[in-house]
Amino acid sequence: MNVAEILELVRSAGRRYLCEDEAKEILSRVGIPVTPCRLARTEDEAVERAGELGYPVVLKVRSPLIVHKSDTGGVALNLVDSRQVRRAYREIMARAVAVDPAAAVTVQPMAESGREVIVGVTDDRQFGAVLLFGLGGVFTEILGDVSFRLLPVDRDAACSMIRSLRGYRLLSGYRGAPPADEEALIDILIKVSDLVAAYPQIREMDLNPVVVYERGALVLDARIFI
Ligand code: ADP
Ligand code: MG
Repeated sequence: MNVAEILELVRSAGRRYLCEDEAKEILSRVGIPVTPCRLARTEDEAVERAGELGYPVVLKVRSPLIVHKSDTGGVALNLVDSRQVRRAYREIMARAVAVDPAAAVTVQPMAESGREVIVGVTDDRQFGAVLLFGLGGVFTEILGDVSFRLLPVDRDAACSMIRSLRGYRLLSGYRGAPPADEEALIDILIKVSDLVAAYPQIREMDLNPVVVYERGALVLDARIFI
């Protein structure tokens, strides 16, 4: 399915929130690097998908009714074999069916660790569509070290969003830590901006976390609201 078809499928189902696999499908269509994210509706299917992707894997709850997956024990990281996948599947589903009897899981490869950042789009009532960039975790949530720009964002604006963070040195390298791949982040910011410009039905996006390496960057989790 192309981007328009995915968005139309969700809209016609009366939903506003795209599940992670749907959101990541859209991102990968426009060239944003994401972890593959495969839907599984049974325990055996989850094991099958894990075998195809290769261990270690991550299992996550998949439901249009569950937006914050780890809040309800819906994320199991670093599963190394089929036994762990089966156990995680049962634990996740036991909690999820209480909220959504049609809940399923997604299976994805466990990504290597790197520096975590967030990329978001929000609809500011005063200013309109705004792009957000910040360092992950405590930097955003506690220190509020985030930069904003009105959309659309070009290369120069994307670059200055990254460099204007107070914690920029965490990306550019300090105390012997090598610099993170800033070009890969700029590329993601521009592609997010272009995506929202091309599909104005996208109201909100939250790529959290995006992990950035010395070479390349990868979206580990994505929410899209239409
Ligand atoms: P939530 O819906 O709670 O935001 P996430 O998908 O972001 O759930 O998962 C929670 C955390 O698990 C992430 O912040 C990230 O640190 C980690 N994580 C998620 N997906 C992966 C992955 N594919 N590889 C490694 N770590 C992951
Ligand atoms: Mg997340």
